Amino acid sequence: MNYTYTKTEFVEFYQQIGIEIGRLCNARCEHCITYSGPKNKEKMEPTMLRRILKEAGSLGLPHVEITGGEPFLFLDELEEIIALAKSYGMRTGITTNSSWATKHERAVKILMRLKAAGLVRLRFSIDQYHLNYIPLERVETAVKAAAEVGIYPLIEAAVGRKDYRAYEAVHRLKALAVELKMCELLPFGRAAEFAPETFFSGSFYQVAHTPCPTAGVPVVENDGRVLLCCTYPVAQDPNDMESPFVLGSTKEESLADILARHLYNPLLRVLRYEGPGGLLRVLEEGYGKKQYKPRELYPGSICTLCADMMDHVNLRKLWHETVAQHDMTAWFTPPVDMEHRPVEQVRMANAQSKSRSLPIVTLSCGDSHPHQ
Ligand code: SF4
Ligand code: SF4
Repeated sequence: MNYTYTKTEFVEFYQQIGIEIGRLCNARCEHCITYSGPKNKEKMEPTMLRRILKEAGSLGLPHVEITGGEPFLFLDELEEIIALAKSYGMRTGITTNSSWATKHERAVKILMRLKAAGLVRLRFSIDQYHLNYIPLERVETAVKAAAEVGIYPLIEAAVGRKDYRAYEAVHRLKALAVELKMCELLPFGRAAEFAPETFFSGSFYQVAHTPCPTAGVPVVENDGRVLLCCTYPVAQDPNDMESPFVLGSTKEESLADILARHLYNPLLRVLRYEGPGGLLRVLEEGYGKKQYKPRELYPGSICTLCADMMDHVNLRKLWHETVAQHDMTAWFTPPVDMEHRPVEQVRMANAQSKSRSLPIVTLSCGDSHPHQ
């Protein structure tokens, strides 16, 4: 049976795409989730990057977020990427450490170039570890320059339990009167070595009852792996291709095929609407109770429970079993029903659809792009 997925279905679920351009960075922060630094030369092939952009544009995804490493170390390529994304009907944002904003005039000049190419948003990372490499003045200069040239500035501050420098910096940045988001420091990447008391922690009850709205907002790593979110999976072993966090590889398949395969992946929907606690529920329905011994505390966030789930041997089995069945839409119903859907129904639907052919993705060309 063939299915026709529309651009609207892709956009509603996936929302946007992140692309990690490379892991070269002029800082080497102690907490870096991507292990970036001056010696890390991992970089996405320009041909792959262009292909992904084109495919993301043809799926109707409205926004591409370029991450790194420090993307501004590839300024010429950035300019080209932004212009290309624009030609495919996509807006571009970049996440940066602000190191390039040494002087106001220089920052304005650089940003005018990128604004002319089509850049719409800059996300400025700030925390106590960045401050060891990037003076706060540069962040202030970059934010002011962005506002001046008409690029939307968003400051994102990651904080742990004892980050007094970050709190002071946030206090100063508030004076700039731009959007400022606080997020929790995560115990992944280099920060996995930190003492547990560095992080805010949640109880099992808290983390097991928190949904994850970013589950399924895809990120393409510099090696072509498509990950289901931008936190824990970017720090995991890149050779672990069996991890459910890896939706596929653009070295082997088109982005459209990868995203179509997971568009109605029920377990991905459970993760988004119920959170990793939902995965535990499904796991116990399928394999019985006591599948998992909860930790005393979950440092960082719900991502710690999520990582535990995705490493669980039976959850992996269930995930691959479910993805391998061909007709996800045959049994998929809106999230409100998810909580009460026993795993037997998933299995039955899987079994029924075994004989069917793979769904074929036909993008309806008549869809008007929402941001053109
Ligand atoms: S956290 Fe950001 S600035 Fe720091 S090393 Fe990693 S990519 Fe570079
Ligand atoms: S809970 Fe899981 S899917 Fe959500 S952001 Fe964390 S690691 Fe990613």
